[in-house]
Amino acid sequence: MFESAGETSYHDIKYIRLNNTPNQIALGLKLAALENGELAIVTSSGMAAISTTLLTLLSPGGHLLAQNCLYGGTHDFVTSDLPALGISYDFIDAQRPDTWSEKLRPNTRAIYVETITNPLMEVADHKAVINFAKAHHLISIIDNTFASPVNFRPPEFGYDLSIHSCTKYLNGHSDIVAGAVIGKSKLVEQVKLRLDHLGGSLDPHACFLLHRGIKTLAVRVRYQNASAQKIAEFLGAQPAVQKVNYPGLRGHPQHQRAAELFNGFGGMLSFELKGGKVAAEEFMEKTTLPIVAPSLGGVETLLTIPATTSHSGMSREDRERIGISDGLIRMSVGIENTEDIIKDFEQALKPS
Ligand code: PLP
Repeated sequence: MFESAGETSYHDIKYIRLNNTPNQIALGLKLAALENGELAIVTSSGMAAISTTLLTLLSPGGHLLAQNCLYGGTHDFVTSDLPALGISYDFIDAQRPDTWSEKLRPNTRAIYVETITNPLMEVADHKAVINFAKAHHLISIIDNTFASPVNFRPPEFGYDLSIHSCTKYLNGHSDIVAGAVIGKSKLVEQVKLRLDHLGGSLDPHACFLLHRGIKTLAVRVRYQNASAQKIAEFLGAQPAVQKVNYPGLRGHPQHQRAAELFNGFGGMLSFELKGGKVAAEEFMEKTTLPIVAPSLGGVETLLTIPATTSHSGMSREDRERIGISDGLIRMSVGIENTEDIIKDFEQALKPS
């Protein structure tokens, strides 16, 4: 619908790609409210949110500081697509703020991190990220997919932009692909104009499904937090298990930080078995309740081996350098009965 030929710009025409239909607007308002952000837009996928945001904030000649352990798709975008457009990057160790200044350049525009990293469940020094961004006039961006707004709200904490793959917890039913950018109005408005041109808008029917999924977000995530904690504790006590990565465990290196920052430790964990890759594959085959699939954040429990799925785009040396072994299993805890999952794991861990 085109209402006025006068001052109306191309971006004001009511049209799905221009992100201004009622379903898109309602969802944006809801997402902004969930994280206490000023404004939000929905996108056709998490990667559309990430790529459009970075392409809005960085121009040729610009430079990005990014956390060294990112979701595989983001890692590939930063390392292949940005340089092809004349945008450079440096990786930072999110646990070592003292080393970040060395990587700063006069053309550094933004700093990009994830709330809890995939798949090792590290918790970045988020206070240091905000302070560093403020001190050096950088735009701070966080991928908050793993925490969901129930466990962490980045705009409240001081991040300029919070990005989600709504495909995961926000929708919660693994039946759509969607994304969101939430945060400072001025920045979200800029991202929206770029999104209008790049064409990454979310279809209104997917908006309806996402809106419906969000209605149960709090109940799902609270249950997943509690279930993941019990499963992580169970795994940590098994002789066949080498290591469990879950920020809710007291032995996790950033447990204290996570306890201070988050309202819950999340539904994601990863673990290694003593028998490495062979044992991991055997374990996954023997489990009967979880589904072997690479997504996350839905009502069904999923298991995956990141080295062959989400992080297969990285070289083996890069994976090993950051601690992703070939046998690491990542688990997205669903809403099944926790005791049923534990029983299933007990039988799958028994030597055959
Ligand atoms: N961010 C994180 C942390 C993810 O795990 C994913 C996908 O797995 C994405 C972003 C990309 O989201 P999408 O698949 O919706 O494009």
